[in-house]
Amino acid sequence: MPPSGRRLQTGDTGRDGRAPSPVRRPPTRRQLDAVYRALLEMHGAQQWWPTASEDDEAARLEICFGAILTQNTSWRGAAAALENLQAADALSAQAVLELPHDVLGELVRPSGHYNVKARKLQEFARVVVEECGGVLDTLLDGETDEIRARLLEIWGVGPETADAITLYAARQPTFVVDAYSYRLFERLDLAPGERKYDLYRTFLLDRIGPDVWRLNEWHALIVRHGQGICRRTAPRCDECTLLPRCPFGRREVGLDGRGL
Ligand code: SF4
Repeated sequence: MPPSGRRLQTGDTGRDGRAPSPVRRPPTRRQLDAVYRALLEMHGAQQWWPTASEDDEAARLEICFGAILTQNTSWRGAAAALENLQAADALSAQAVLELPHDVLGELVRPSGHYNVKARKLQEFARVVVEECGGVLDTLLDGETDEIRARLLEIWGVGPETADAITLYAARQPTFVVDAYSYRLFERLDLAPGERKYDLYRTFLLDRIGPDVWRLNEWHALIVRHGQGICRRTAPRCDECTLLPRCPFGRREVGLDGRGL
């Protein structure tokens, strides 16, 4: 979960608008490692996903709700919706399920698309309450593929949300792909191929390995970098630690386009 002001969004990822070359070689582990270390050095460990709930199961449910609420909107809006739910004592699956739809919609209004978000939260809560006996761990138990498959069956949960929940709530290894990931890897000329969710996810997971902490930081650092430095428009390339190895950035600042 992004701290206040961070933004998870989908959409165009760069003003260059270019797709990666279909013939280029995919990035090596060494190249990816160098990017990771540079981002970590620049931004520090992000230690996602901060939650208001102190109880572990409640915190993980909050992560699930947050992952749904932040779909197609800024984290700020999702965080405000979560605060409303907490203030209404509705940060539990049972409470969300029992709330009248219009009341829940008002509570999550800051997250945008609030009627749909309310439906999605209630469907998630219904699965937890009715299919998992009210125990979130039942939904989040098992290996990565089992958990993802279970989550993807829930209405309103797509691949990015399923992976965010799998990584941050179930703490199982997966890579969360988002618009920031496409943009960063394309600009660095390290895209594993076309912008296809599963292609990116499986490639990066294979290269990075199953270290949950590292996968957690990878995604968090990409989001942090994409929001503050590698912005869709007006990227701050002259402040970026990746500039020496970034063809796009080098063109932006008037150097040749070759990365290291
Ligand atoms: S140099 Fe510019 S384009 Fe490249 S990663 Fe950094 S901010 Fe993004």
